[in-house]
Amino acid sequence: MAILVCGGAGYIGSHTVYKLLKCNEEAVVIDNLQTGHRAALKSSVRLYEDDIRNAAALEKIFTENEIEAVIHFAANSIVGESVQKPLKYFNNNVYGMQVLLETMEKFGVDKIVFSSSAATYGEPKKIPIEETDTTAPTNPYGESKLIMERMIKWIPNLRYVSLRYFNAAGAIESGEIGESHKIETHLIPLILQVPLGKRDHITIFGDDYPTPDGTCIRDYIHVLDLADAHILALNYLRNGGKSDIFNLGNGTGFSVKEIITAAEKVVGKKIKTEIGTRRAGDPAQLIASSDKAKKILKWTPQFSDVEKIIATAWNWHKNNPEGYKDE
Ligand code: UDP
Repeated sequence: MAILVCGGAGYIGSHTVYKLLKCNEEAVVIDNLQTGHRAALKSSVRLYEDDIRNAAALEKIFTENEIEAVIHFAANSIVGESVQKPLKYFNNNVYGMQVLLETMEKFGVDKIVFSSSAATYGEPKKIPIEETDTTAPTNPYGESKLIMERMIKWIPNLRYVSLRYFNAAGAIESGEIGESHKIETHLIPLILQVPLGKRDHITIFGDDYPTPDGTCIRDYIHVLDLADAHILALNYLRNGGKSDIFNLGNGTGFSVKEIITAAEKVVGKKIKTEIGTRRAGDPAQLIASSDKAKKILKWTPQFSDVEKIIATAWNWHKNNPEGYKDE
């Protein structure tokens, strides 16, 4: 039986497919390659280049393969874009989930691991954030992820694990696959574009936040640790685990300035910075409590050192400065 990975050619999806294969699982991928890359998948992985909103395409996959469970990453995920184009997010993310759930129901597939987000919480009331804290998204992206979580909950006979990621970072240590976005918005890859000579400086989005150095604090978690959590969640559901929601983060926050300093150590060069204005919708601090995932899923993140995380990203970016060749 196979695991259907929706969005398996994307950044976190492809690292999860890599880990699934390492665990001798069979993975089938559907990805419209809007932001994913064929080159992020080994040639042995069956890739359906299609959109999850296309019910006929999904039905074909469920007919041609014996799907045991779904891991669902396929969604748009740029916060700023979601504010400009909310309906794009509700269509692709929410309606995509609708078609996926309809197809799963039709074929009697009863397990899903869902890629959710810390953006479901919005501005945190306390740090670290726990799963029981209030969810009040501050942008359409976070809202779409919360709606998707809530949709899953109502489907009879479906068991789910929703994983709320904090800041995914890094790449596989061998450098085979990594982060490659046509439009890059994330801090670590943007910082690394400076020593690569692709950008003159990194702009720090505000240094007047109520944090020790005035810059925003985030919880950076290695993409392989995220991938591991998906496989643990899958096995948890296989073993009869009840539907639940888990945060995934390191539990330690780093400010934008601290990340830049760590990147300087990794690349061995000074990185030019400029102070810019705040980015709309950025909370001052986002730090996860991942105690629940550690306790229930037995998740033990391997990359707690932020320099180590950045080093794996640097290894990928310096060898693939233009990202995947198919871009
Ligand atoms: N950030 C920044 N400059 C950039 C990109 C990001 O100062 O060019 C900051 C951003 O404001 C946030 C942190 O870096 O405080 C992480 O941003 P990212 O977009 O990587 O992830 P997010 O926290 O939005 O999921």
